Amino acid sequence: MQLIYEQSVPGRRGVRLPASDVPPAAALPATLLRKERAGLAEVSELDLVRHFTNLSRRNFSVDTNFYPLGSCTMKYNAKVLENSAALFAPYHPMTALLPGGVALCQGTLGMLHDLGKMLADITGMDEVTTQPLAGAHGEMTGIMLIAAYHAARGNRAKKKYVVVPDSSHGTNPASAAIAGYEIITVPTAPYGDMDLELFKKAMNDEVAAVMMTCPNTLGLFNPHIKEISDIAHSHDALMYYDGANLNAIMGKVKPGDVGFDVVHVNLHKTFGTPHGGGGPGSGPVGVKKELIPFLPQPRIVMDGDGTFQLEVTNPGSIGRTANFFGNFGVMVKAYAYMIMLGREGLIQVSEQAVLNANYIKEKLKPYYDLPYDMTCMHECVFSASKQLAHGVHAIDIAKFLIDKGYHPPTVYFPMIVKEAIMIEPTETESKAVMDAFIEVMIEAALTAESNPQALHDAPLTMPISRLDETKAAREQNVCCAW
Ligand SMILES: *Cc1c(COP(=O)(O)O)cnc(C)c1O
Repeated sequence: MQLIYEQSVPGRRGVRLPASDVPPAAALPATLLRKERAGLAEVSELDLVRHFTNLSRRNFSVDTNFYPLGSCTMKYNAKVLENSAALFAPYHPMTALLPGGVALCQGTLGMLHDLGKMLADITGMDEVTTQPLAGAHGEMTGIMLIAAYHAARGNRAKKKYVVVPDSSHGTNPASAAIAGYEIITVPTAPYGDMDLELFKKAMNDEVAAVMMTCPNTLGLFNPHIKEISDIAHSHDALMYYDGANLNAIMGKVKPGDVGFDVVHVNLHKTFGTPHGGGGPGSGPVGVKKELIPFLPQPRIVMDGDGTFQLEVTNPGSIGRTANFFGNFGVMVKAYAYMIMLGREGLIQVSEQAVLNANYIKEKLKPYYDLPYDMTCMHECVFSASKQLAHGVHAIDIAKFLIDKGYHPPTVYFPMIVKEAIMIEPTETESKAVMDAFIEVMIEAALTAESNPQALHDAPLTMPISRLDETKAAREQNVCCAW
C-alpha cells in the first residue's frame, strides 16, 4: 500500500474552492509566513477517501474484532451513545460562561449535575467533579485535593509520602510524584494482593495517601481492603481509589463504603466510550464531603427552585484542572449508557464481566501458567512461563493471535508477572466468541511445543511482519518503512 505522499500528483485536488469574494484581511506579519510550501499530498477526493478507508480496514477495533485488552477495558460502545453525544453538540457547556449563558444551558448543566450524582452513588462519594480529562489526570487532581486537605489542616509539610502497591498502574506513582509526593512501594504477597504485614510496616504519620486499585491489576479483589483503610486513617492518611477496574464491582461494592475518600472513574473504560488511539478520555473524581471545599471550580450546584448555577466563589478550591468542564461528549455517552442500562443493567455488567473472565481463566488454565490461581474479577493474568521453556515469549503469542484475527491481550503488564498475558473479555462478548478465542489460545500453546519457530515468525498475514524492535529503537527512521 502506498503512502498518501506517494500517491501525490502535482496540481491534483480533492476540493476546489471558489475564488474568495471577501476582502483580504490585514496581511500577516512576514515572520509568521511559511518560507516554503507545506508539502501536503495532492490527491483527488476519491484517492483520499479510499486511502483512509483502506487504512481503517487494517485496524483492529471493537467494531471489527474481539479485543481482550486487559486493564484497558475495550468494551461495549453502543452506536446509540454516539448519537446521544451528537444530540448535545449545539448545547456546549461553555455557553454557561457567557453573560446570561447559565439560563441558556440549564439542560446541559442538569445533565452534568445528574451524571455527577449517579457516579457519586455508584462510588459511594458525596460529590463528583467531571473536569479531569483521563484516568491519569483524575489521579493527579485527586492527589492535589488530598494535598489541599492536608494543607488546610496545617500538615502539608509533614505529609511527604504516598503509598502504592507494586502491582499498581504506572500512572499512580507518576501522578503522586507530579503532585509533589515521594513514593513508597509495597510488594505483592503470594496471595495476589498488597502484602498486609509490609503495608503495616510502611505506614507512618508522614503518609498523605494510599493509592489502590481494587480489584487490582491482577484482577483480584483485596479481602483486607477495610482493614487497610482503617490503618491508613489511623495515620491520618486518605485512601485513593483508582477506578479503572470499576466495571468489576459496579453495583456490588461502593468504594466509599470500604473506606476510600477519593475516587477516579475512567468513563472511557467502564461507561461505554470507545478509547485507544489517544482519547478522548474522561476521569471524573469523586470525594467524601471533607474534601468538597477543595474541588475544582466552577462547581455546578442546584438552587432550591431546581435551577443550576455555577459556583465560583470557593476560596479553598485547587482551581480549574481542565477547560469545558472536561471532555463533554464522553460524559454524554456515559450518562446515556447509565440511563440505558439502569441500576439492574449496571449490576449485570459487573456480574457478566466477572463470569466471562473466570470462564476464560478456567478454560486456559491447563495450558498456561496462572501465577495467582484464584477466582478473579473482570480480568485474569496468565504467564507464558511454560511456553518460555520452548523459547516462546508472551510477545510471540500476541503476534500469533493477530494472524488469527484477534487483538492481543495486554502483555508484559502487570510488571510483577513474568511474561504476563492479561485477558479481559468484557461483559458483552458471547460464549461462542470466547470459545473461538480460547481455541486459538490453546492452538498457540500447542504450537509453542511443536513448532516454536511458527510463533517467532508471526504475524504473516499483516501488511507489516515482525519488526526488529532493537533496530527500530536505535535507528529511528519513521518514513518509508516498507
Ligand atoms: C487505564 C488505567 C489508568 C490510567 O487511565 P487513563 O485514562 O488511561 O489515563 C490508571 N490505572 C489503571 C489500573 C488503568 O487501567
